[in-house]
Parts: sequence; structure tokens; C-alpha cells
Amino acid sequence: MAIGRCTKGKTVPTFWSKTLIPTSRQVPGDAEVPSHQLMLRAGFIRKLAAGIYDYLPLGLRSLHKVMAVVRQEMDRTGACEVLLPALQPIELWQQTGRHIDYGENLFVVKDRHDREHALGPTHEEVITSLAGTYIKSYKQLPINLYQIQTKFRDEFRPRFGVLRSREFQMKDGYSFDTTREGLDRSYQVMYDAYCRIFNRCGLQYVVVDAESGEMGGSGSQQFTVLTPTGEDTIFRSDKGNYAANLEKCPTGDRSHDFTGDPTGDLEEIYTPDCPGIDDVRDFFSKSLGSRLKTSNMLKSMVYVASKISDHRDPHHVQDLHYILVVLRGDHDVNEEKLSVEVTKILGEKVSVMLAPEKLAMDDGWALGFVGPHAFVGRTDTTLLVDPDAAQGGFWVAGANKANHHVKHFNWDRDVVDIVSGNKNIVVADLRNAIDGDPSPKNDDGVLKASHGIEVGQVFKLGTKYTESLDATVLDEENNRVPIIMGCYGIGINRIMASVIEQTGGHDENGIIWPASIAPYQILITPIKYEGVIKQTADRLADELETTGCDVLLDDRDERPGVKFKDADLIGIPLRITIGDKALKDGCVEIKPRRASVDTKSQLVPVGDVVKYTVDLLSCL
Ligand code: ATP
Ligand code: MG
Repeated sequence: MAIGRCTKGKTVPTFWSKTLIPTSRQVPGDAEVPSHQLMLRAGFIRKLAAGIYDYLPLGLRSLHKVMAVVRQEMDRTGACEVLLPALQPIELWQQTGRHIDYGENLFVVKDRHDREHALGPTHEEVITSLAGTYIKSYKQLPINLYQIQTKFRDEFRPRFGVLRSREFQMKDGYSFDTTREGLDRSYQVMYDAYCRIFNRCGLQYVVVDAESGEMGGSGSQQFTVLTPTGEDTIFRSDKGNYAANLEKCPTGDRSHDFTGDPTGDLEEIYTPDCPGIDDVRDFFSKSLGSRLKTSNMLKSMVYVASKISDHRDPHHVQDLHYILVVLRGDHDVNEEKLSVEVTKILGEKVSVMLAPEKLAMDDGWALGFVGPHAFVGRTDTTLLVDPDAAQGGFWVAGANKANHHVKHFNWDRDVVDIVSGNKNIVVADLRNAIDGDPSPKNDDGVLKASHGIEVGQVFKLGTKYTESLDATVLDEENNRVPIIMGCYGIGINRIMASVIEQTGGHDENGIIWPASIAPYQILITPIKYEGVIKQTADRLADELETTGCDVLLDDRDERPGVKFKDADLIGIPLRITIGDKALKDGCVEIKPRRASVDTKSQLVPVGDVVKYTVDLLSCL
């Protein structure tokens, strides 16, 4: 494991005074989460600009160790490493349409000939074009190619330090198979490798079902480290048999009932400048003096479904079909679920997006003030209602007229009865799951929400990219078929930060690294770097390096208190303190950074240090 500095085949310890570890007691103002604060304070990274970081010597060593673990485990599966360019001709992205899907997250640069290039946020296009060039027969498959490389994403909100930066290191791997069964096998091999990688890096993670997002394809799982500061929401059934992320998580069956007596006559209310749910709620309490809960409001949103090919230019959509989506005011639409439902209803793969404003207004939708009864009389629209909204009771909804809402909306009276028998009303799970929802297993399990950080994701991609980039092989029957792909990503920098972020990864004094990815495994702290203490420190450092340990030697002329504080801050798993008193008895003090009952600090005879240390490191 040693990646210590090497002179003629022998690794040597690093001297603190000769490296750059700018520790600081100050908590940086814009660092909100512990990993970000501590990586800055411990001198692992420096912010150059928003979402862009320098890696200093300690940070880079940890990063390299994560890479080494990833590389070893990938190589163990038989995957082969490649290195693909970060600069990618934009035409490649246009061929798959992802220059649109990635939107503003895609960095695009122009060269001196005015040609556009994307700075790769991921590499499906490039690897597919590579595979298509050289893989021609099923006999060359399966194969798995991976790289560890810099990715660029113009994140809407780069934050939390290296957890969400604009330039980061990713391991991205891609499997190529001829059959679905082959893909299933390749996927499983990667899944198992990911478990080994995260275990070795000391991460406590859960695996949850995920949406495949821009990647397309059929199946995906996400490896998530549970921490309250995580940006992702995941749901787990309290029965322990289901877990998924917010984008994916279906709810179990929820009943609906359009019937129910009206709570009053449909009453139109003037609600000036209140297009949003919260605006209307506030208007009710401020101007009308009545308390309105958002759970008593209906949120009606106008979407448009179009063929995927039309979607590239929403102003020229053909066979346009409107989808009026109605949810309870306190719920959020889940666009993945919506897209799946609409595809089911229309019987072909379509793309669904919020209706462009001008188009919708021209077609008579009072955007911002739409109510479910706008559906009545329209033949170009499907009404899609979430079960929680498809209920009797008191409802406030849009009045289908600018600056107006209605009170006492009643499904039966105002829509269902009028259009009775209309097959274009569909009730379906359309919203994001929330804490307390029934588990999709429908076994009385209840979904519980928690927060986490996505450290890796595996996808069964299928033929999305090989079809659009024409990467085909001849199969056993001599038919030309598109190659079936899987893709597998891991955030190298995110692993580092997540290890710190998770429970046990830090305390009030600093970082607590697991030995596997700590920048150094051992920190030798001489109380004063001179005389016999210096001789002992140098000798132990050399011996430990020779056995394969990475050693940092704090040779600074600093007070012990400063050295100990810095030691705790940078979080090296084992500290060997060498002072006069213990040395008189032939001993040094060995203290694990991670405080636990059976590994408190110990006085160890100098002659036993190497064996004691190596044994102890294996359990840190
Ligand atoms: P997120 O949902 O957090 O934006 P993603 O699903 O878009 O991530 P993928 O395309 O699956 O990310 O990329 C693979 C891995 O790369 C992620 O699992 C994550 O660990 C890492 N990653 C993605 N975006 C960033 C980023 N901006 N900064 C650091 N790591 C990232
Ligand atoms: Mg992902």
C-alpha cells in the first residue's frame, strides 16, 4: 500500500517541514459541511474559484490511495484501463442528443477554428465510438473498459467542497456485451467490485434503486453514504426489503375517490399576482383572513408530450399532446414517474416537458392559474391525477383565468361527472415519495426518508448509445446487432469527502481517516526533534517505511501542543509520540486517532514498535 516517496526503490518518510500542510484553526466562512471545513483547515485542498480546488500534498496522497483501491478492484475483475480525452467534439454529443439533455451542465469551448468541443462530464459517447471502431464480432465480447479521469460539469450549485465541484475525478467504466444475460453478468461483476471498493475505503453505504436519468436504459442502482448533510434523499422500507432514491421511489398503493359532496358552490376569488401555491396560501391568510393549508390546494401543471425526435426543438413539436398533471399543493411532481406514465398511456416512448409558455398560452391555458376543470372540453389533453389529489373534500384550485382561483372545487361536480366515461382521465403515482408513504412492496411496510451522498452508480444502459452511434457487432447467427452496454461511475473525490462526512469520520478535533486511504498511515511526533529523540524518530520512520508503511515525521520546531492539535486535525490513523520520559524506559507512546476502548494509547518498547504498529494498522 505504501505510496511513499521513492528513492532508488526504497520509500522514505516525508518530513513535515519539507512538505506543504497549511493547517488553520479558522473555520472558512463558506464551508457548510464538516468534510469541506476540515479538508480546507487540514490543508488538503484550497479553493481556487467556485467549485474548483487545488489538491495539496496530503489531499493528493489520499486521492491517489482511493484511485489505487479502485484500480486494483477494477483490474481484479478483468476490466482494462484506458484514457479518453476530456475534449470531445460536440458533434458526438449532437448525435446522441445529449448536448440538449445535459443542458447548462455541459461546458462547451470553441477552438481557434470556431469548432465547439464539450469538456466531458462523462464519456459514454467517446467510449461507444471507440468500441464501434474496433469491436466487430461477438467473439470480441464481453469486454469492460474503464478510466480514471477528470470530468467537468458546470454544476448549477457547486457546493460542499469536493462533494460537488465543477472539476472532479471519476472512475467511469463501460461493459460491452452481445446479450441481455451477458449484460446482467457484467453488471453483477461491477456491483460486487463496487461493494469491495467502498468496503476497503471504509465507507458505510447502502445500495438503493435509482433512475437512470440522462443515461437512459433499464436498470440502475446507487451507492449512497448515509449522512444528514447528504444532498440526496433516499427511502427505505421499515421492513428492510426495499430502498430507492427520491427520483425513483414509487409509493405503494394509495386509494383514490373522486366522489364526495361539494363543500360549497364553486366560488371565484380574485388573487392578484399569486401564481404559486405559497403565494395563494399567503394571500388567503393576509388578505382574506382565512387559514389555507397547501394540502387543501390542487396544483395543476401543463406538460406537453412529444416524440423524442421532436423534443430537440420544442417549438416544432408534432402530434402535440397536452398532459394536465394535478397534485396536492404540498406535493412535488416526479418527472421520471410522469414520463413513464405518459409513455404507458400514449403507447410509445415520448419525451415530456413543461409546456413552453407561449405555446400553452396560445392554446388557451391560463398558466399559473390552471385548475383541473380546464380539462373539460379539451380533446388534445390527458388529465393525470395523483391519488392524493383525486379525493373529495375542500379544495382550492386555479380558476383557469389570470389572477383568479376557485374555492370549493369538487371533482365529481366540476370534472368527472361532466366528462363521464372519458378515458383520458388517469390516476397514477406521480409525485415524489414522502416520509411515511406505503412501501411499494405493499406489505404494510412504511417508507422512511434519510439523506445521503451518492458515491457511485451502476447502470444497465442497453443500446441507447450504440444505436445512435451505430456501434454494432455480428452475433452468432451473423446478424448485425447493436452492442449492449452497461456503465459504472465512481466519484473519487467524493469518496474522500464522504469518508470524513460519515459518522466516525471526524470529531471536534479533526479528521479520522481509515488506514486504507489516509495520506499517511503513521505520524511520528518527536516532542523535540533533536538528540536521541531525533535518532529514534529517524530510525523508526525508516524501519516502518521499509515494512511498507507510509510515514510522516513532524520535524518542526513547534510546541508539542501545536503538533498534537495538527496531528488530530489531519487525522493520520496512528501517532507515535517520542519523548524523553518514555524513552528513558525504552518506550514510545502509540495512539490511534480513532478513540475506542481497546485501542487507547500504549507505551510500546522501541524494539516492538514495527510489529505492534503493523498489527494495529490492519484493524484501523
Ligand atoms: P449527482 O446526482 O450527485 O449530481 P450524478 O448522478 O449526476 O451525481 P453520475 O453521472 O452518476 O453523477 O457520476 C458518477 C459519480 O461521479 C457520482 O456517483 C458521484 O460520486 C461523482 N460525481 C458526480 N458529480 C460530481 C460532482 N459535481 N463533484 C464530485 N463528484 C461528482
Ligand atoms: Mg449518478
